[in-house]
Amino acid sequence: MPTLFTKIINREIPAEIVYEDDLALAFRDISPQAPTHVLVIPKKEIASLDDLEDGDAELIGHLFLVVRNVASQLELADGYRTVINCGRDGGQTVDHIHIHLLAGRPLTWPPG
Ligand code: AMP
Repeated sequence: MPTLFTKIINREIPAEIVYEDDLALAFRDISPQAPTHVLVIPKKEIASLDDLEDGDAELIGHLFLVVRNVASQLELADGYRTVINCGRDGGQTVDHIHIHLLAGRPLTWPPG
């Protein structure tokens, strides 16, 4: 059963894609929590941080390089925050690991 995000990868669901390569996709969140809110995902279906395997280390590193590249592309010179929610208490709602990239306003700490 493909995840919601795999359907976006396969263009079965529309999304505003800002970056794509062989391993990763970045697209704008449908319910933005900041002026810029992008999700960076691997094309490989990994449900959550808990489901990472040792062999995924390079892929996860690549996702953060994508974050860096997207931040540069979108000119987020004032800074940004990355968030990975995991599990119920972490607030994860889509079981396909994703990095939230939030920017465009001062972000408060601690998060809610
Ligand atoms: P999380 O709650 O960390 O699992 O994040 C899932 C994110 O996916 C939420 O911020 C949603 O707004 C976002 N989302 C859900 N459906 C879509 C969609 N079709 N296109 C873009 N973003 C989506």
